[in-house]
Amino acid sequence: MSPSFLPHHYVQQQQFTALTIGVFGGGQLGRMLAQSALGLGIRTVFVEDAANSPAASVGQVYTSNQLDEFINACDVCTFEFENTPLAHTQAVMATRQIRPSTDILSVSAHRIREKQMLESLGIAVAPYHIVNSLADLQHAERKLGLPLIVKTATGGYDGKGQYKVTKPEQISDAWQTLQHAGELVAEGFVNFERELSIIAVRASDGAIRYYPLAQNHHYQGILSHTIAPAPNSTHLSAQAEQTIAHILNHFNYVGVLTLELFVSGNTLIANEIAPRVHNSGHWSIEGTACSQFENHMRAVAGLPLGCTAAIKPTLMVNIIGQHPNPQGLLAIDGARLHLYHKHERPGRKLGHVTILANSYTELEQYQQTLKACLPNPMAL
Ligand code: ATP
Ligand code: MG
Repeated sequence: MSPSFLPHHYVQQQQFTALTIGVFGGGQLGRMLAQSALGLGIRTVFVEDAANSPAASVGQVYTSNQLDEFINACDVCTFEFENTPLAHTQAVMATRQIRPSTDILSVSAHRIREKQMLESLGIAVAPYHIVNSLADLQHAERKLGLPLIVKTATGGYDGKGQYKVTKPEQISDAWQTLQHAGELVAEGFVNFERELSIIAVRASDGAIRYYPLAQNHHYQGILSHTIAPAPNSTHLSAQAEQTIAHILNHFNYVGVLTLELFVSGNTLIANEIAPRVHNSGHWSIEGTACSQFENHMRAVAGLPLGCTAAIKPTLMVNIIGQHPNPQGLLAIDGARLHLYHKHERPGRKLGHVTILANSYTELEQYQQTLKACLPNPMAL
């Protein structure tokens, strides 16, 4: 284990020289990556143009005009922001390795290419039709029926850039609303029983560790809460693990990858991938011995991966739009609060709360207690 960028302290103990990992993006994901890396003696620096970003309190933040300084400051790079401009990653790649390889970004940041990649690997996706005109959208309605979810090919997150068409009269409004965003894709509505995600991490030697399946509950397109391990899901684990392993190996991927899934009976349908740590894995900070954040940083640093098994049934609830009164929340024994240093705005993820329980029944009780403490309890 001595990739060229590793400083001496991981090889010889005499002199401590901290490894520095550079992260594209300084949001809450970057912040939690840095927090997890501290214990490993790893420093984190960021590229982020937004002022007062969540990462600013945990590491040096460079703007995209200061790329040279960022490159000089780090030994190896990664990203938490999928829409990092190609020019920036290319500039870094001249002298520094980026893990995972940025090849995956052009696929994951474009819903149509993403579906085509998944299909080429034999992975089931929702039926879809590519839309470049009103006539295409009308064709999609005839082909796939209603409801339809029309999505922008690029730039969407937290349900943004989407239009659910339930009546034929909405077709032209959906086109008017989204046509300016470039290419679109219309997806047939999947009548899923529940939504799960699988998060896995692949090391530079190809070793893979899987987190247990997580069950995700959305409200108005935004993740409201996650229960992990997903109840009654052991029969689906092998299928989910094989699917994500297929993607990881295809890209010779190093780091954490997330796969969002719709479940219908025993069938798993891939919704989308995220080539990064993911909101549905925040539970792993307290819920496992080695969180998705730490394992990502370990993989990027070329270190051995840590244990991904769940300690107990865990509930993670997002804090959306408005901050809660911490007095009430922290009075719940065992509740762990994570705030991201963000200003309030409707629909914005400001933090999350995690709690571990001895059973799923106890977890439900905690869910009700938390509901009473949150100003915006979403779908709890
Ligand atoms: P995020 O960034 O939170 O992952 P996103 O904006 O990338 O979300 P999607 O994951 O595509 O968007 O969709 C958000 C949610 O909308 C899904 O988790 C699911 O609840 C619902 N949804 C999306 N596509 C479909 C579909 N084809 N059928 C049924 N529900 C869907
Ligand atoms: Mg999604």
